[in-house]
Amino acid sequence: MVVEAPIRNDIDEIMPGVIADRRHLHEHPELGFQEHKTARLVAERLESLGVEDIRTGINKTGVTGLIRGTAGGGEGKVVLVRADMDALPIVEENAVEYKSHHDGVMHACGHDAHTAMLLGLARVLTERRDQFAGTVKVLFQPAEELPPGGAKGMIAEGVLNEPHVDAVFGLHVAQEEAVGTIHVGAGPVMAAADRFSIHIKAKGGHGAAPHDCIDPIAVGAQIVSSLQTLVSREVDPIRHAVVSVCTFHAGNAFNVIPDTAELSGTVRSFDPDVRDLLQDRIAALATGIGAAMRAKVEVTYDRGYPATVNDEAMTAIVRDAATAVVGADRVHTKKPQMGAEDFSYFLLERPGCFFFVGSKNEAEGLVWGHHHPRFDIDEECMTAGIGTMATTVLNFLEQA
Ligand SMILES: [Zn+2]
Ligand SMILES: [Zn+2]
Repeated sequence: MVVEAPIRNDIDEIMPGVIADRRHLHEHPELGFQEHKTARLVAERLESLGVEDIRTGINKTGVTGLIRGTAGGGEGKVVLVRADMDALPIVEENAVEYKSHHDGVMHACGHDAHTAMLLGLARVLTERRDQFAGTVKVLFQPAEELPPGGAKGMIAEGVLNEPHVDAVFGLHVAQEEAVGTIHVGAGPVMAAADRFSIHIKAKGGHGAAPHDCIDPIAVGAQIVSSLQTLVSREVDPIRHAVVSVCTFHAGNAFNVIPDTAELSGTVRSFDPDVRDLLQDRIAALATGIGAAMRAKVEVTYDRGYPATVNDEAMTAIVRDAATAVVGADRVHTKKPQMGAEDFSYFLLERPGCFFFVGSKNEAEGLVWGHHHPRFDIDEECMTAGIGTMATTVLNFLEQA
């Protein structure tokens, strides 16, 4: 086990710089695949730290770099640490001095903090090159908030090869958890997120003459009710899933039966076979109900991010690291949640762990959730985040 006290001292020393980076990024947020200034800042920082093999423009704005440990004479494993860089199309409502300068764009999910923490981690590790064997690959990705996301394309461009990456780690600030705590769990921690849309083609006419029409609203209503039986009647009750119809558009006059109706919604699941089942059965139910009621129904189903599934051994390394950094009473088991994350694509390719860093501070009023116009974190959380990640990486390389 790496001794954690010196790391803690190193991190305390660099925290003013990490906070300054986070605030600069917060002031200059960029949407997915437009992170040009962010990527430039990242590349400049990595360069000044002496990070090797810096590559830019991967899947548009992605950046990677290598930190090679010198303790093993070039031998050892390769571990990848990822941060996402993108912001959201939200008008910031915080009255802080580092408020967004770009009207309508805001770091409302904490990716500014993720980027700043990974730069902090790079600084800690470049200063400790002589203390570890193996290689740390830092990866800054675009467009986590913009499915199909930035991760998949970076993997397609080969970021997990040359050198071959053995394990992957990532983190997310968690505004629903108290600052100073770390939340980590094995197995699925975030859901697969898919979307469907249902187009109902029927036959409109006078509202007083329904017998001459085929009513798409009546068909749509049956479909909505039937879709709610999928989770309650067809998915194994000890497994988790959500089917939500979130839009239903039809008609625009009170006495006219419209020709068409459009529905759309989201599907969340953890198990691949539950996901397959829901995809098949949504289409079968909707088209079957359409046929039974004389309407033509078309279903489009788009698969989004897969479930985020943590490896057991990698999760144990993170849990031990977190315990060393924040203490056992501040490390909690992460309950799976129905949100989604494109770090899942890295976890499909390599063992790893995605964990959560509590960032809420009620006394300071930092309580607003992710994607809210008043979202803001307690920046002190970044100490626990960098500490846990640095210890994780060093312990992984030491055990490897
Ligand atoms: Zn988000
Ligand atoms: Zn996020």
